[in-house]
Amino acid sequence: MTAAGLERTLTIIKPDAVAKGFVGQIITRLEQAGFKILAGKLIQMTREEAEGFYIVHRHRPFYGSLCAFMTQGPSMPMVLEAENAIQRLRDLMGATDPAAAAPGTLRKEFASSIEANAVHGSDSPEAAAFEIPYFFSDLEICRR
Ligand code: GDP
Repeated sequence: MTAAGLERTLTIIKPDAVAKGFVGQIITRLEQAGFKILAGKLIQMTREEAEGFYIVHRHRPFYGSLCAFMTQGPSMPMVLEAENAIQRLRDLMGATDPAAAAPGTLRKEFASSIEANAVHGSDSPEAAAFEIPYFFSDLEICRR
């Protein structure tokens, strides 16, 4: 996907974390962990945009609630780049449920609940390949 074995992933600082003023702290943690930010923007998703983004979860019982949550306020999708970025971001995020997330993870520190869990991260190369262009065109992604 990129030179030198670098990998790209999509993160979203979710509406709960934006509303609580955690954007700066989360970005700092991402940069300190070695991720380069290649793109980012503050958006408020429509219901249709949230449903399309989470289409793989359409049969799960929390799909409607999750899509409503993701539209409730601004969120910040970003493209991150690093060696092994997908797995490293998942490790930094921690478990889906903050009650189960390890100390030092973003969800342990910043999440409110299993749904309002502060950050999203692509869970596979296939997911990243769908999610990055969902929010960003090639022209919006910097080469650093
Ligand atoms: P992730 O990969 O850790 O983000 O977790 P999943 O892919 O399983 O779920 C996607 C998102 O749906 C999570 O990040 C949560 O915001 C939400 N979610 C997951 N499980 C539940 C649940 O049991 N209840 C509710 N209300 N939301 C959930």
